[in-house]
Amino acid sequence: MMEREKNDILYLVVPCYNEQEVLPETSKRLKEKMESLMERNMISRDSRIMFVNDGSKDRTWSMIEELHEQDPIFAGVKLSRNRGHQNALLGGLMTAKEYADMTISLDADLQDDIDVIDQMVEKYYDGCEIVYGVRSARTTDTFFKRFTAESFYHMISMMGGEIVFNHADYRLMSKRALEEMAKYKEVNLFLRGIVPMIGFKTDVVTYERHERMAGESKYPLKKMLALAIDGITSLSTKPIRFIVFLGLFIFLCSIGMLIYSLVQHFLGHTSIGWTSLIVSIWAIGGLQLLAIGVIGEYIGKIYLETKARPRYIIEKVLN
Ligand code: UDP
Ligand code: MG
Repeated sequence: MMEREKNDILYLVVPCYNEQEVLPETSKRLKEKMESLMERNMISRDSRIMFVNDGSKDRTWSMIEELHEQDPIFAGVKLSRNRGHQNALLGGLMTAKEYADMTISLDADLQDDIDVIDQMVEKYYDGCEIVYGVRSARTTDTFFKRFTAESFYHMISMMGGEIVFNHADYRLMSKRALEEMAKYKEVNLFLRGIVPMIGFKTDVVTYERHERMAGESKYPLKKMLALAIDGITSLSTKPIRFIVFLGLFIFLCSIGMLIYSLVQHFLGHTSIGWTSLIVSIWAIGGLQLLAIGVIGEYIGKIYLETKARPRYIIEKVLN
């Protein structure tokens, strides 16, 4: 086991998109947490709280600038425009990696219990490169959110993706783990699917998730669905395999139907009627569209990956 020297530098990385309502409270609570860790000599005095402004349209960035001026414990990264949670997080982590020995990513609304940060840091000193925050109960989420989330995790593992159940993007990553993650160059990034591939010694800490402090969720159903489809298609090609089997199955059925209709024909019975014709046309037509759609998803992914456009552009760093 790798024993680490205490007093390493911790960077909290917090993506923020239109979070002016929660920032005052979030910054206060995170600062208290960092100071208590510093007093107990668990982290270095050079540790920082790094807010990543993901192209917010409200006062978020000017608030981050103010915080940074008042107290150097606050750092900031400004993306050139809105790139979405995953890219903002990646941009923040890749920036923090230059200064930090370990990072912890968390949401600006503090839905994730910040008191488990202590345990995460302890596990880091025990030699863990990655520590996942896992929700023990989802009582504060609506039934709908719980149901969709559960189905999503099951879908991913059915498709052969490796994913930590009930873990969002609240996790500790060491500098070493981040350096390995930086080698995953895919444009279509689904961090939760990539991080388990890195390996090393990992552990989990469990906590209860709170309700959003203020403001609204930035993940409406449409974005959740998009994240699910992106997650599955970026981790696995099983949907294509599934279509192959479905096609094979339907082909076998059609041979059965062929034999059946020939027999009926030679026995002099009337041939297949209107209903069966219409049903087959709709069924086969629908399946074909679905199949093309699935293949299209993958071709679209290939198209985007070949262009290798930057995932985020950093306009400014305050540190
Ligand atoms: N977020 C972001 N860019 C976006 C959307 C969201 O950086 O385009 C941030 C947001 O500020 C928050 C985190 O991602 O810190 C998670 O968003 P939210 O709390 O709205 O999602 P939920 O908890 O409802 O899934
Ligand atoms: Mg939230």
